[in-house]
Amino acid sequence: MLSTNEAVRRLKQGEVVAIPTETVYGLAADASKLLAIQQIFTLKQRPSDNPLIIHIGCMNQLDEFSKPMTEIELRIIKKFWPGPLTLVLPRKKNVLDAITAGLNTVAVRMPNHSKCLNLLQKTGPLVAPSANLSGTPSPSKSEHVLSDFGENFPVLDGGDCAIGIESTVLTCRPNYPTTTGQQSSCASRKFQSDILIYRPGAISAEELSEFGSVEYYTPSHSIKDTLRTSNVTPSPGLKYRHYAPKATVEWLSDVEQLETLRYPGVIFLLDKTPPYTQSFTDKVVKDGYSLLCCEGSWKRFGQLLYDTFRMADKENYTRIFIQDIRKHVATSSLKDAIINRIEKAISGH
Ligand code: AMP
Ligand code: MG
Repeated sequence: MLSTNEAVRRLKQGEVVAIPTETVYGLAADASKLLAIQQIFTLKQRPSDNPLIIHIGCMNQLDEFSKPMTEIELRIIKKFWPGPLTLVLPRKKNVLDAITAGLNTVAVRMPNHSKCLNLLQKTGPLVAPSANLSGTPSPSKSEHVLSDFGENFPVLDGGDCAIGIESTVLTCRPNYPTTTGQQSSCASRKFQSDILIYRPGAISAEELSEFGSVEYYTPSHSIKDTLRTSNVTPSPGLKYRHYAPKATVEWLSDVEQLETLRYPGVIFLLDKTPPYTQSFTDKVVKDGYSLLCCEGSWKRFGQLLYDTFRMADKENYTRIFIQDIRKHVATSSLKDAIINRIEKAISGH
């Protein structure tokens, strides 16, 4: 584990270091050093057309990368930074193509983590995708980083991530041409809303609706198939497999479903009781299931989601049952993001 000073020294020398944020751990490199950035792609086995988010420690650092902002962007920044929100903005020419994967836009975020902010103020802007191998669940604890990259990998430890789910990624210019010579990101598509969410995160659509009309970017099925084979997408990360453990993930909707389960696995619950009774718990223990319950806390549920995925794979469990929270009466700003990650894990996309 590194001290902040050691992490600063290494990053300034062009090395790659894992850093804590409030969302997930990031694999960081100096945003001005091409070789270090290329090393991130190699280490993660990340496709080079999947762009990186630039992390900044103060507003001055933003000027290097983006053009002047609109009123709505400024208001969103004022409200949510530092925080789990990534803004996709028009880029300046000097931003390295390796960061943006050649797009006309650049993604920027100011993380809400004191150790990370302190580091960023000393290093300057860092690019930092999630510090996991491409395809494995994102790391919400420093030990997840070590499990993917080895016990001796340099990590600045900042404790377990407070949110544990990646940032909300959005643009306030849905029709800004993402690639040169292209009118809009998805050829014939025009967006009507003020805010387009590419990836749901802890800042919800509802919270954002205070600043304008909000829409989720949801490629239709036919577009989804094209996305896999082409690079015509405004947020290329959408076309890659994400967040999925090796174990199969399924929604658990009622106790009866459990009666038919034959293989031990993991049961991950938001609520304790009801509908989960003592006899349910007894059966779980008797049949060798590992039961995790978040006592009704959405925050805890989000924090433990990827840890549960990783634990299942480590213990060679083949199935993960997750309480079906899609129609849960309780609302939470995390709900859409959590459902999104679970659905991705279920479908394997
Ligand atoms: P990760 O760093 O692994 O959390 O993933 C970053 C996400 O941000 C990916 O889904 C990227 O596609 C997305 N992203 C990064 N840069 C841009 C950009 N310029 N425009 C749209 N999406 C972006
Ligand atoms: Mg990632």
